[in-house]
Amino acid sequence: MCGRCCHGLRLPLGLAEARNWLGEGGDVELFCEAIPWPQEMPADDGVAQHKRNRSFAAASGTLPVRVIVSLLATFEGACPNLRSDMSCGIYERRPMACRIYPAEVNPFLSVDPAQKLCPPEAWTTGTVLQTDEGRWADTTVAEAVDSRRGSDYREADAKGRLCELLGIVEAGLTNEGVVTHTPERSHFLAALDAVSVDALPGTSQPDWVLVSHRERTLALLDSAGASLMNAGALTKSDKRFIAFVE
Ligand code: SF4
Repeated sequence: MCGRCCHGLRLPLGLAEARNWLGEGGDVELFCEAIPWPQEMPADDGVAQHKRNRSFAAASGTLPVRVIVSLLATFEGACPNLRSDMSCGIYERRPMACRIYPAEVNPFLSVDPAQKLCPPEAWTTGTVLQTDEGRWADTTVAEAVDSRRGSDYREADAKGRLCELLGIVEAGLTNEGVVTHTPERSHFLAALDAVSVDALPGTSQPDWVLVSHRERTLALLDSAGASLMNAGALTKSDKRFIAFVE
């Protein structure tokens, strides 16, 4: 009830949650990142399989890639659903990500209080959030994490179809940066209405463009046959490049 985690967010949403958020006047962006995937990773590589499950298969030029699309509710300052007493105005139907915080959806991350917005006293209640074995102690949190991760996995291909409908083909290189897309609201709503988790892949094979701000990355990707764009060439206001590294 401190409300800190309800301010200035990029809140991950599932497809239905994004449809609701956008339909109720909130803002949603798509963050796109691509992972070069020239060959399948070993089945016992848990990190790689997690990325594989969250992504859809695509191609950039002649380079096979996997693309991860995150739907993020974005707002500066207070969440539009936050009441003045710091309670949530949509508590019963708040997004899964809100039910999880400060737990982690990524199975390879542990909670680091220093990285969380919770006030210091939140960590001194004696309540165990995560056991020494890494499990979420509270069953509600554990179920919400499973649900959020499950929809991430189930909806990966549908997000590919969503990008196709929106004409989105630009992605950052994973770990280096992302390309954010802000489609026009009515177009975005219509595309969200048209896709479903069970949506069949589209018939076209979009050529994904890998965007980077680093000359050496562009040279490397060029030698691998990828379609490229320098981040500086992203000039449309509905597309931005966010760098994670210098
Ligand atoms: S939807 Fe509710 S819980 Fe989630 S950020 Fe907004 S006010 Fe907070």
